[in-house]
Amino acid sequence: MSKINYEKHIVALMIEIYCNNKHKTKKNVLCDACNELISFTHDKLEKCPFAENKGACSNCKVHCYKKTHQREKIRKIMKYSGPRMLLYHPKHFFIHYFKTLSNH
Ligand SMILES: [Zn+2]
Repeated sequence: MSKINYEKHIVALMIEIYCNNKHKTKKNVLCDACNELISFTHDKLEKCPFAENKGACSNCKVHCYKKTHQREKIRKIMKYSGPRMLLYHPKHFFIHYFKTLSNH
């Protein structure tokens, strides 16, 4: 799996955990708002394939700035689902956190 596809997969999993628990949706079913959020994040990942690259990041910030509302939602979901990834998808949790740490 490529890095982008992996990131997409992780984001989708995290949004799914959040939606299932917070919006009382069934497993593998997301509400419209969360589906839209997944498209938004996937779109963003595709437009910014080099997240570590400073030049691309500044472009991203401009993009994010316009979508503050979506970004706030995503931040909330990450905060909620991050620790729960350990429970639901332990393998991904560790890979994700290792990667996050090694990026800083
Ligand atoms: Zn939802």
